[in-house]
Formats: sequence, C-alpha cells, structure tokens
Amino acid sequence: MSGLTNKHIQKEELYSAHNYHPLPVVLSRGEGVYVWDVEGKRYYDFLSAYSAVNQGHCHPKIIRALTEQANTLSLTSRAFHSEKFVEFSEFVTNYFGFDKVLPMNTGAEAVETALKIARKWGYEKKGVKDNRAKIIVCGNNFHGRTITIISASNDPDSRGNFGPYTPGIHSIPYNDLNSLKSAVKDNDVVAFMVEPIQGEAGVFVPDHGYLKSAYQICKNANVLFVADEVQTGIGRTGRLLACDHEEVVPDVLILGKAISGGVYPVSCVLANNDIMEVITPGTHGSTYGGNPIACAVAKAALTVIKEENLAEKASVLGEYLRKELALIKSEMIALVRGKGLLNAIVIQPKNGKEAWDVCLKMAENGLLAKPTQGNIIRFAPPLVISKNQLDECIQIIKESILSFE
Ligand code: PMP
Repeated sequence: MSGLTNKHIQKEELYSAHNYHPLPVVLSRGEGVYVWDVEGKRYYDFLSAYSAVNQGHCHPKIIRALTEQANTLSLTSRAFHSEKFVEFSEFVTNYFGFDKVLPMNTGAEAVETALKIARKWGYEKKGVKDNRAKIIVCGNNFHGRTITIISASNDPDSRGNFGPYTPGIHSIPYNDLNSLKSAVKDNDVVAFMVEPIQGEAGVFVPDHGYLKSAYQICKNANVLFVADEVQTGIGRTGRLLACDHEEVVPDVLILGKAISGGVYPVSCVLANNDIMEVITPGTHGSTYGGNPIACAVAKAALTVIKEENLAEKASVLGEYLRKELALIKSEMIALVRGKGLLNAIVIQPKNGKEAWDVCLKMAENGLLAKPTQGNIIRFAPPLVISKNQLDECIQIIKESILSFE
C-alpha cells in the first residue's frame, strides 16, 4: 500500500464511522467493468457495488439521463405531480408486469415498504386481528439494516446491542418447504419474504423448484409471497428477475440497486391493485422517493438492460465462469456456486491464508472482490463484461489462488 492510499485510508478512519471494513484500495474513477484507484492503478470490478452496477460504471446513456434531468428539474417531492414520475410509473409497471409501483430510495426502505404493505393487507384484506400480523423470513437472510429489518436477521453483527427488536417476524430455515408449510398454518401469517438467491449469505442458491413450491404454499394459505430481488434482480442471475427462472410472479416485488445502474439511489416496490390499494395518502412516503432524477435514471438504466441483452449475457458468461473456476486445481477452492453472474467460491484456508488474503492478492493482480461470511468470495462483475475481459479475470483469479499453493 503506497503513501497516498495510506493517507486517504487514515483520514477515512479518523472522520468516518467504522461501519465497513473495506479492502485497502481508494477508488477515484470508473468506466464499464473497470475502476481506477488514486494511484492510477486499474482493476476489474468483481463486486459491482453489491450488484448495483450491472450496466457498468458511468454508462453513457444513464449518465446522460442523469445530467439532462439534473439540469431540468431535480426534486418536486410528491406534494405535486411531476412529468417524469408519471412517465416512469407507466414505464416500470409495464416493464415488470405489475399494476402499480411505489418508489423509494434504498433497498432497505423498499423492504420496509413491502413489510408495511403486507401488514396492512393482512388487516384490511385477510382479516387478521389488530397487531397480530406475522411475517415469515428465512435464516441467514439479508434485507438491510433498519431496526425492523435486523429484527428479521440472525446475524450477530447486524443485531447485537440494537434491541429491542420489532415483533411479529418469524424465521424459518431457507430452502425448507416443510418449515414454510407449518409456518403458514397460523392464520396470522400475512407474508413470506424471501431472497430468490441469498446474496449476502454467500450466494446460496436454493434447490430448483423451491420458489415455485413456496409460492404455491403461500397461495394455498392466503399469504403474500414477497420477493426481495434487490440483489438478484435486473438481469444479474441470467434472467430479468431471479424468480423468472421458476416462472414465479411474486405478489410483492422489491427492487433496488441495479434499477438505477449504480448511478442514483432508487428502489421500488411493485404489486397489483388488490394489494397496493391498501396504501392511501399519508400512509407511506419519502421526500426523495420517485424524484425526477431518480425516474429519468431508472428508466435509462432499465432500457440499457434490454437494449444490451444483459440478462442473456449474464446467463451465458456465468455458466462459462463457473465452468472455468471449477477447473482451477487448488485445495483452497472448496466449492463454486451461483447463477448468471452472481457467483461465489467457498475458500478452504491453507497455510494460514484465508479469503481475505486471496482478495488482497487479486487486488494486487488487478481484480477487486470482497469476502462475505468470512470464507466466501463473491464474483459479480458488471454484466457488460466481454468474453475476453472475463477470460483475463479468470486468469487473474487463477494466478492469485495458485500463488498460495
Ligand atoms: N435486500 C437485499 C437482498 C440486499 O442484498 C440488500 C443490500 N445488500 C438490501 C436489501 C439492502 O439494500 P440497501 O443497502 O440499498 O439498503
């Protein structure tokens, strides 16, 4: 680590809360699949800001939408109608095939929104008695960091010393249909919220058929199936939505991250009228939610996904990447898994070297990835990556891991 990088890192540690543990690189520029640090060194970005930058850094069409809108009208609040919000709400509902959208800013806010919608639906449509609504979630989930959301978490770092927790949230094991069947027998259950692939847990892919059966179990019990596609959505797993792999249309769809291509905080909840109509004036909102810049950016970002066939690209290149990673002959790779371009390798520590050391070595060799859950490294490059670039990345990963043999 050079003096300049070190200086920046020390300053951040001095002035910023220590709520992250970043890799020791200080980035200052990005374009497509590349980012550059303050020393001018170029890296492949294999995290894509936790799958927000699916369209690549600073995609010219998205940046044009941002700057044009920023020069025209940035924020009205929803106290007034805005031309861009009208346009976006029609566009995004047609794009995903739902009656209505409720726009927010971050993934966590959209999750909170979905939980509020589910509870209100439970009282007003399902007939659950006051204050008794229950939401079912899965073990090892990641849905964000608000107090209600960490109440749904079993991660000690997320939860520790943040209690008391929000009641009415019950956890069952992921990828376990029998537990779901038992849980929904309770008539107070209003929703089952699930990630189609658990990203933060280490790209844990459930058995094929899990989502479809879970959806059916929810339907039979009059329970809302709520899909958190904040990380899996927008082409990342090789389809527009990860639920598409099993032809499941969730009752409530939560989107964030790549809906804006990493350019602006935009999130959305989508649902049909029979559900979304429980939201009435004053029951929910956000000053910035659905602002004109967000709408212009998200429309451009979603258009890029289709124009550049990024979901299909993720499917083809993802399969290739997993095949090539599986060929690396190293005891340190215990497992390769994923779908589309949302992938991970499970690292078996060797000679005291762990996933963190592998990430440092890859950074040295020009590729940025980050461990999750200690021993898992996620590989999620921007979907605009070319086959040649991916081959170069596979070479870097291979050389980095083999350097510990
Ligand atoms: N849901 C899922 C599945 C996520 O992966 C994340 C972020 N990693 C969130 C919600 C929270 O999104 P945000 O960080 O934008 O609040």
